[in-house]
Amino acid sequence: MNLIEESFRRIYPNRTFDYHFEEHYSLQLSDFNANIKYDNGFGKKNIKIKYNLKWKNIDDEIKIGLIQTLLLKVFKPKKYEKDYSKLNINLYNNFVKRIHEFSEAEKIDPKLEESFYRVNERFFANLIDKPNLVWGRDSTRRLASYNYHNDTVTVSKIFQGIEETNPAMLDYLMYHELLHKHLKFKHNGSRNSYHSKQFKDAEKLYPNQDDIEKQINLQIRSYKIKRGLVRKKELLKVNHQKIKINKNKFKDGLLRFFGK
Ligand SMILES: [Zn+2]
Repeated sequence: MNLIEESFRRIYPNRTFDYHFEEHYSLQLSDFNANIKYDNGFGKKNIKIKYNLKWKNIDDEIKIGLIQTLLLKVFKPKKYEKDYSKLNINLYNNFVKRIHEFSEAEKIDPKLEESFYRVNERFFANLIDKPNLVWGRDSTRRLASYNYHNDTVTVSKIFQGIEETNPAMLDYLMYHELLHKHLKFKHNGSRNSYHSKQFKDAEKLYPNQDDIEKQINLQIRSYKIKRGLVRKKELLKVNHQKIKINKNKFKDGLLRFFGK
């Protein structure tokens, strides 16, 4: 049975469900919004429900509460029907109150997510809840960080693409940050910041740590060189334009001089 029909039958158990219905997921509606349209023209009774895309993976029982809230706008409940809707609508209302928490944990980059799954399975027996996983700016000093307040692992952009060639490097950074989440230490992201003995002992459990540290340092150096070269090229371009402008000024000056 479709969810719309299910929702209808639960609140109006004595009515017949003889409606056509359509459901759409849309990005045009804002987060967790939804609306209903009902028309009863030309002998056809149509229910149209549009959901924001974020409803797609929400539990059916909560969604039934949403649909019932919408249905109640269209089909006025009789007195004795009012109680039937309470159960799911309460679930839905509680969910709405907590949407803020849900939405925050939704900045997830797919490549970082893959790394998270690998590390969580290999080192934490899948016990760690998925945090936000985002790329930060291209810092060569702040390689990765874990922000306890908004539950976010941020990885420097200089490692973007590394998951194709050297996923172990990314996983090592991920492991470090998940350890912070696991041990619940506040951490400002600098590699030189204080890490407890418990933290360091746990970090050492990562295989080939020394080797990976070396690779990371190489990655930082090669990124710096790359960035340096880009800057040089840009400088050359700018100088070239300046020279052109000066030459034109000179020409102008000469012409003016001869013109006089
Ligand atoms: Zn750290």
